[in-house]
Amino acid sequence: MQSYLVPEPAGKLIYRCLGCGAEYGIEKLLYTCPNCGKVLLLHDPAFDRLKKISGSTWRQIFDYRKMLNIPALQGIYRFHEFVGPILPLDVVVYLGEGNTPIIESNARLQETAGARIFFKNDGQNPSASFKDRGMASALSYIQYLIRQGHVSEILAVCASTGDTSASAALYASFLQPHVKSAVLLPHKKVTPQQLGQPLGSGAAVFEIPGVFDDCMKIVEALSENYNVALLNSKNAWRILGQESYSYEIAQYFEYDLADKVVVVPIGNAGNITAVINGFLKFYETGIIDHLPKIIGVQSEHANPVYRYYLEPDPDKRHFEPVYVKPSVAQAAMIGNPVSMPRVIHLVEKYNQIAGYQRIYVAEVTEQQIMDWQLTANRNGHVICTHGGECLAGLVSAIERGLVERHEEVILDSTAHALKFSGFQEMYFEDSFPPEYGVTPKPELINAPELIRPADLEAVPEPGRPLSGAKLDRFVARMAEEIAKILDLKKVSV
Ligand SMILES: *Cc1c(COP(=O)(O)O)cnc(C)c1O
Ligand SMILES: [Zn+2]
Repeated sequence: MQSYLVPEPAGKLIYRCLGCGAEYGIEKLLYTCPNCGKVLLLHDPAFDRLKKISGSTWRQIFDYRKMLNIPALQGIYRFHEFVGPILPLDVVVYLGEGNTPIIESNARLQETAGARIFFKNDGQNPSASFKDRGMASALSYIQYLIRQGHVSEILAVCASTGDTSASAALYASFLQPHVKSAVLLPHKKVTPQQLGQPLGSGAAVFEIPGVFDDCMKIVEALSENYNVALLNSKNAWRILGQESYSYEIAQYFEYDLADKVVVVPIGNAGNITAVINGFLKFYETGIIDHLPKIIGVQSEHANPVYRYYLEPDPDKRHFEPVYVKPSVAQAAMIGNPVSMPRVIHLVEKYNQIAGYQRIYVAEVTEQQIMDWQLTANRNGHVICTHGGECLAGLVSAIERGLVERHEEVILDSTAHALKFSGFQEMYFEDSFPPEYGVTPKPELINAPELIRPADLEAVPEPGRPLSGAKLDRFVARMAEEIAKILDLKKVSV
C-alpha cells in the first residue's frame, strides 16, 4: 500500500467518441469527434491495471492520502489514478477545490422532507460552485501541456450560466501569464455576484443577447474556427475532474453505498455524467460494492432530460431540445444539454451493470425550488437554489415511490446560497416577475425592521456620533424598543 501512497504518472488517456467509437490522442485539445462531430469522453485503455489492486487496498490508499500534507493530493487528485493518472503532481493546479463537507440535516428538516438527508455543500469550493472540480482538472491538464512545450499562450473560453465563467476565470488567472480567459454570458441571465467573479479575476467578459444555449453556439463557433481552449463541459477534462464528487461521497460513507440515493440538478448534464461515471469506475474496481440510486432533477422551465425519460421504452425515446423559461435554478436553465449523448450512454450502462433501474429524473416547479431552498436555509444549510431543486426533487421522488424510508439521501448543493441571494430577495419582497410563477409563503418571508422610536430626539449619523447623555439615552431607548418587539423578560437584579 505504502508504495502507492504518492502517485506517479501512469496509464494512458485517450479521447473516445460516443458516436462512432473513434479514438484520438490527447496531445491536442479536442471537444468533439473530428470524424462524426459527437461528444467525447476520456478513456484510460489501461484502466484494468487498477483492478489488480484490491478494493480494500484502494480504500486504504485514499484514507491514508487524506492525512498526507501534500497540496496536490488534498483536492480532486486524492483520486489521481481515477481523475488524471497521466499527470505528474507538480502540474496539479490546487486552489482548495474538492473535499467539500457532507452535512447531515437536523431532525426537523428530515421529518419535513420525509427522508434521512445529507447535503454535500459544493458551494464551499473556491469560486463557490462545483465547477471548480472540473476546472482544476482542465487547467491542470493545460499546465501539463504548457510544461511539455505543446502549447505556450492559451486563450481559454467558455459560455456560462454564471458559475463556469467564475471558475474558468479564477483558474486561468492562476496560470498567468500563460493562460488568459474570455467568457460569454447571457445578458441579464446571471446574478450580479456571478458577473462580478470573472470581472474580478480579470477575464474578458462578453454579455450576449439571448440565453445560455445561444452563448454556447458562439463559443462552439470560436473553438471550431480559432485557436482557443474551450472550457465548457464539452471539454472531457471537466467531466473527469467532476467525477471526484462521487469518490468523495464513497469515501465519506466508508465505501458502503448500499441504500444510498444521490440527487443532482441537471443543466448542461455534465455534472450527472461525471457522477454516474465516477460511481461506475469505483464499482468496476471493487472500491464500492453497490451502485447508489441517482436522481437527476430539472425545473419544469428547463426540462429536456426529464421529458426524454418520460417515454418508458428506450427504443421510442427521442431527444427534443426545449426553449427555456426563466428559472431560479438559473445555472441549470439549459434547453439543449451538451452532454445528453453522454447521459443516454451512461444511464443505460449504469442500469445494465446494476441489473435494474437505478437512475431516475424528477421534475419540480419554481415554487417548490424556492420553498425548499428557504426551508433548508432556515435549518442550518447554506444551499443555493439548485440545492433547493434537489430537495424538492427528492420530495417529488418520494411521492412517486422512487425513494424508500430506509434509504439515505445525499443532496447536491452545487453552489453557495449567496450567489443567488437575488432570488431570495424577490421572494421576500414578493417581486418575482409573473413568468416564474412563484408566490411567497408568508411563513418563509423575512425582512429587516428599522428601529427609530419617534420620541428619540438624537440618533447617530455618519460623521456625527453621539456621546454622553444623548448616547446613553439612545442605547437605552433602542434596547427597550427591541426588547418590546422580541417580548423579552427583564432579568431580576
Ligand atoms: C453548472 C451548474 C449546474 C448544472 O450542472 P450541469 O453540469 O450543467 O448539468 C447546477 N448548479 C449549479 C450551481 C451550476 O453552476
Ligand atoms: Zn465520432
